[in-house]
Amino acid sequence: MIDSHCHLADETFTDDLDAAIARARDAGVEGALCILSAGDEAEAARARTVRASWDAIRFAAGVHPHNAGAFAGRAADSADVTAAHADAFAACAIGEIGLDYHYDFAPRDVQREVFAAQIALARERELPIVIHTREATDDTFAILAEHPGVRGVFHCFTGDTAMARRALEIGFHLSFAGIVTFPKAGDLRDAARIVPADRILVETDSPYLAPVPHRGKRNEPAFVARVLASLAEARGVGERDLDVAVTDNFVRLFGPTRVEATA
Ligand SMILES: [Zn+2]
Ligand SMILES: [Zn+2]
Repeated sequence: MIDSHCHLADETFTDDLDAAIARARDAGVEGALCILSAGDEAEAARARTVRASWDAIRFAAGVHPHNAGAFAGRAADSADVTAAHADAFAACAIGEIGLDYHYDFAPRDVQREVFAAQIALARERELPIVIHTREATDDTFAILAEHPGVRGVFHCFTGDTAMARRALEIGFHLSFAGIVTFPKAGDLRDAARIVPADRILVETDSPYLAPVPHRGKRNEPAFVARVLASLAEARGVGERDLDVAVTDNFVRLFGPTRVEATA
């Protein structure tokens, strides 16, 4: 199993990082993509510990839409900060990046400019992107349409069947998180059923969004097993088959092996 999106360098893992990694390994998690907030040096220090503690961990770096406000009027700088962070961790993807109109922590026009600048960086480096989008579907697709050829994944997909189709049409992967295990997520499970086996991923988004039966507690990569089981059930396929598919998809999207940073 692979957790395609976690925040293992979050401070909530500081006290039991080794135990959390051991639990993930015991649960059969063979790798994970650790998402880093570009320019966050405190998190980067913890990420170096994560890197030393788990040889299967890989990294993505990006300016999250929540943090886009710092780059008002200078979106190009967000790409520079992301590039430096991506270099330091030999990132295999740019992300998470995108638009969040639910929280609106940054002005929407600034979010759009920062998102676009980082997609341009990803294209330049031929890296896939990890998209965070909330209540901003049309603007997200409009910006992606301006950058043909970019590949990637809609992380923690929570859209309906129509949105899933839009994402699939432009060649993107969809990654499902613990929300798919929630009793009221029937629409999301419907969307999960239409995703081809070669475009689906699973993730925890830990420490957030713990799946049933851990809901309300801190999430961690080991719990990706619950997401996989729930998704397999929704799709009417065996867990083992789905596991093989998502692992293949992860490797195809993010590359086969971890590359060590030289910087
Ligand atoms: Zn996100
Ligand atoms: Zn995340």
